[in-house]
Amino acid sequence: TFTPLASDFYGFAADLTDAELASLAEIRAFMEERVRPVILDHWHRDAFPTELIPELGALGIVGAAWPETAPFENSAVYRGWVALEMSRVDASVSTFIGVQNGLVAGTIGVTGSAEQRAEWLPRLADCSVVGAFGLTEPLSGSDSAQGLRTTARREGDEWVLDGEKRWIGNATHADIVVIWAKDVEDGRVKGFIVPTETPGFSATKIERKISLRMVQNADIVLEGVRVPESMRLQGANSFRDTAQVLRLTRAEVAWSAVGVMMGAYEAAVRYTTERVQFGKPIAGHQLVQDMLAKSLGHITASIALCVQVSRMLDEERQEDAHSALAKAYVTSRMREVVGWCREVCGGNGIVTDYEVARFFADAEALYTYEGTAQMNALIVGRAITGQSAFA
Ligand code: FAD
Repeated sequence: TFTPLASDFYGFAADLTDAELASLAEIRAFMEERVRPVILDHWHRDAFPTELIPELGALGIVGAAWPETAPFENSAVYRGWVALEMSRVDASVSTFIGVQNGLVAGTIGVTGSAEQRAEWLPRLADCSVVGAFGLTEPLSGSDSAQGLRTTARREGDEWVLDGEKRWIGNATHADIVVIWAKDVEDGRVKGFIVPTETPGFSATKIERKISLRMVQNADIVLEGVRVPESMRLQGANSFRDTAQVLRLTRAEVAWSAVGVMMGAYEAAVRYTTERVQFGKPIAGHQLVQDMLAKSLGHITASIALCVQVSRMLDEERQEDAHSALAKAYVTSRMREVVGWCREVCGGNGIVTDYEVARFFADAEALYTYEGTAQMNALIVGRAITGQSAFA
């Protein structure tokens, strides 16, 4: 059964259905029993616990948005809570699912043909196929709507892909990567499903990260990689189609950021009630309580915002600027919260023996990926003013 969280101060989770709450209880138990015990060791070795991937598949959370693979009728608000529950324990495992579910199954769900959906969604859902999403490049990050250098050239019934990608999560152990490339003929961005065993494809792990160390990010090189037309995503015909996927995933990153805040806050509450200075627990000092109260305020306001942006998706009135605002706003609040939570732990806040330090470090990657605060502000700015500041 689902136990309400003290960090969900206004009890937003009560609006979920019984089936959704039962699923969240199962996810929480999995994260506590299977993930929590192995996090620190893997974080320090910058290794991903790949042996847990089939168990993640069995949870029924990948593909929950699509009729082919949804385990039960569910809402976008529930799917947001899934990201929150996972990130509350570990943002790297949550990011693995964010890539597999949001970016890869999401791309195929939004832009795949009926045949492509039937072929890939079930295998992504049970994680028998692991996916990665290749948009960012060494020379094109924020400007990927116009700046992609990876090219796609049609040759008969095949496409030839050439270029480089950077930061691609899961790519060192993935079976397929969605590659975004510019068609040399019409200059438009198209999407391709590329099996990682294809000749000419290589992925090299990015070492020495200080954030989300468990996530296996890679530099990818594509040298004359050939895929058949059947592997071109039939509904991905310009960057507008890529943006449709990012609209969905940005809202889920906002939910993950709430989870990171909650994980840090809960650890800070525990720490400050145990640590004694000036003859009483530091939680009894006014200025410490102020930081805890401000953290809970940010968490509560962020949940409210996330619930509404997901309701808008369920009601088919969510637009790019809605999820961009949620992503930029909530990840900014997250950075303040993990800062305060680290601060109230004093020196112990900077060693990973105490949980807060890991949330503090992992927050930085969530703040940057899926569009920086500045890029998401420009999407909102365009909606406010009708003027695009991108070019
Ligand atoms: P840049 O674009 O070089 O930006 C650097 C700074 O300049 C930022 O602060 C940015 O906001 C600012 N800036 C740029 N242009 C402007 C402007 N016009 N106005 C104001 N400020 C501006 N990508 C994938 O495709 N797949 C993945 O799986 C993936 N996973 C990731 C995982 C991690 C841990 C990280 C760190 C990144 C991942 N990314 C992934 C890439 C991520 O999306 C990019 O890092 C992000 O979009 C920023 O691009 P960049 O790093 O090239 O920074």
